[in-house]
Amino acid sequence: MTIVYIGLGSNMDFPEQHIITAIQSLGEIQSTRTISVSSLYKSKPVGPQDQDDYINVVAKLETGLGPLVLLDCLQTIENEHGRIRNERWGPRTLDLDILMFGDEIIQNDRLTIPHPEMLNRSFVLVPLAEIDSEIVIPGKGLVRDLLSHLDQSGLEIM
Ligand code: ATP
Ligand code: CA
Ligand code: CA
Ligand code: CA
Repeated sequence: MTIVYIGLGSNMDFPEQHIITAIQSLGEIQSTRTISVSSLYKSKPVGPQDQDDYINVVAKLETGLGPLVLLDCLQTIENEHGRIRNERWGPRTLDLDILMFGDEIIQNDRLTIPHPEMLNRSFVLVPLAEIDSEIVIPGKGLVRDLLSHLDQSGLEIM
């Protein structure tokens, strides 16, 4: 079994509803159970600014799946929420990113883990630190230390 952290985000069509049902769906993935879920956070969009604020959450899971099978399951859940892929970083009903997969460092066509942008994103590191302030991001360091360098304005706990 592997401990994994998933970043959830939504900014379309009643985002809280997408996040809450997605949290449920994560717990229903085969060979996977939910260990803990952060508070809901509201954040300003990354990239194009002409879109609504995001709701973000981080979930800690335990899974017997491999990383690519887990990614398939997450993309199925995104599709069930009507995710349409168009503009980069554009509005979306649901985004599910694998932030960390145990202590593994993974680099292939479909996956980069740890998620390469997480260190720059307070909407990821703040909820992550809420769940596990002592966690070490493989190859990067303690989440608590990484967070101290980040601008946290624009992030609001709900
Ligand atoms: P960002 O990666 O900056 O958060 P995004 O979430 O908007 O951007 P998507 O369009 O959701 O990007 O994903 C594009 C592709 O990223 C996916 O098809 C997937 O194969 C790949 N990918 C690479 N690393 C990861 C990861 N750690 N978690 C989820 N998807 C990943
Ligand atoms: Ca993302
Ligand atoms: Ca994504
Ligand atoms: Ca990406």
